[in-house]
Amino acid sequence: MACSKRFLIRGPVAARPCNAGGGAAHDLTPGAWMAETTAAHLTSVAPLTALSEEERMFQAAAREFAEKEIRPHVEPMDREGVFHRELIDRFFEQGFMGVEVPEAYGGSGGTFFMAILAIEEFSRLDASAGVVIDVHNTLVTNALQRWGSEAQKQKFLPRLVRDTLGAYALSEASAGSDAFSLAARACQDGDDFILNGRKLWITNAKEAGLFIVFATVNPGLGYKGITAFLIERDAPGFSVGKKEDKLGIRASSTCELILEDCRVPRANVLGEVGKGYKVAIETLNEGRIGIGAQMLGLARGALEHATSYAKERKQFGKPIAQFQAVQFQLARLATDVEAARLMTYNAARLKDARLPFQKEAAMAKYFCSQVAERVASECLEVYGGYGFTKDYPAEKYLRDSKIGKIYEGTSFIQLQTVAKLILG
Ligand SMILES: Cc1cc2nc3c(=O)[nH]c(=O)nc-3n(C[C@H](O)[C@H](O)[C@H](O)COP(=O)(O)OP(=O)(O)OC[C@H]3O[C@@H](n4cnc5c(N)ncnc54)[C@H](O)[C@@H]3O)c2cc1C
Repeated sequence: MACSKRFLIRGPVAARPCNAGGGAAHDLTPGAWMAETTAAHLTSVAPLTALSEEERMFQAAAREFAEKEIRPHVEPMDREGVFHRELIDRFFEQGFMGVEVPEAYGGSGGTFFMAILAIEEFSRLDASAGVVIDVHNTLVTNALQRWGSEAQKQKFLPRLVRDTLGAYALSEASAGSDAFSLAARACQDGDDFILNGRKLWITNAKEAGLFIVFATVNPGLGYKGITAFLIERDAPGFSVGKKEDKLGIRASSTCELILEDCRVPRANVLGEVGKGYKVAIETLNEGRIGIGAQMLGLARGALEHATSYAKERKQFGKPIAQFQAVQFQLARLATDVEAARLMTYNAARLKDARLPFQKEAAMAKYFCSQVAERVASECLEVYGGYGFTKDYPAEKYLRDSKIGKIYEGTSFIQLQTVAKLILG
């Protein structure tokens, strides 16, 4: 393959001539190439995984917080199937609930990429903690910033940053992958809408104070009737129903929402009436990168545990990490994790750069959820019989990994998106 200079301009690798691996001779000597490569080139195209000072500090803060404050809750929350409210309060206090929200509304004024870093770090220890901040940041505050009126932003963003957890309610019992076939109905009544119907599988619902709920103003209009509403938990006619008892991410609440003549002021329509499908699609395009980050963090966590175990566990008189089969297994999984990281970071950086990212986001979610499941499964095997028990975290990582292929669009739905974009 021809080796252009562009491929060489990436951090430390840039100093290496492109035929260093013994390929075809390059038309520039390394010295001549170096002379041609300006400092401007080197700084303008950084490695994907190179973090700015601000990103590095934020990542370190998220990691330290996760170690100190999330870790002690992980096992009891999984066992109880409950997310401890005091931990959610700490997410708010530490600024993890408005990462991208401008400082004018009380937020941290960070980037989407920084939210991704936090989701990855939290999910490394607990995918439930990861999804709590994922839904809040990449779906709820994100949609409000993008589609909300100034009055809505003034009213809701400071609360979402301070103490009010957000939830995002699109799915229904009969409308999952085919989300726009939803049946929840919104009828105008003077300056209000009256909503009726049920939403299913809503993450954060048990603890949330603000819900973005999708309903149709006219089923005859198909997807063009879908409208997004901001509904407060105490709205008349609104209630949170049954909580699911799940295989994985057991601490994260997943509940039904019940709308019975639920009265919502017209002022709470998010975006335009009949344009809720745009709110849903465009928010989910971004949210998928968050699920990629959740699965990336989970895979990292599983692999770190298995690597330490392999260095400690002795069989045949030596640590199992000294067997080449185990070494190669860990090396293959580490390669998967690295690829997942590159895809997730690239999609997030494309989004922050306001470049097209839809294909890369779908690919990242698809790939990272595959990686998470494979890494968690093989890491469990590294533990032998112990991995099959609750004495080690390996089985929890495997249980938690399954959700990556299901929510925010199943793997087939991601492939459908990618196929549409590559086939035109
Ligand atoms: C723990 C959890 C949390 C969730 N959180 C939320 C939330 O916060 N908000 C929200 O709105 N929803 C949420 N969901 C819902 C989730 O997004 C849906 O479960 C998901 O979109 C799949 O829909 P479904 O379950 O109805 O499956 P179905 O759509 O019935 O799919 C069943 C199978 O059919 C396949 N399939 C369907 N259509 C096609 C097709 N066209 N081509 C090929 N294969 C297809 C799917 O890939 C899947 O394998 C959550 C779900 C879970 C389990």
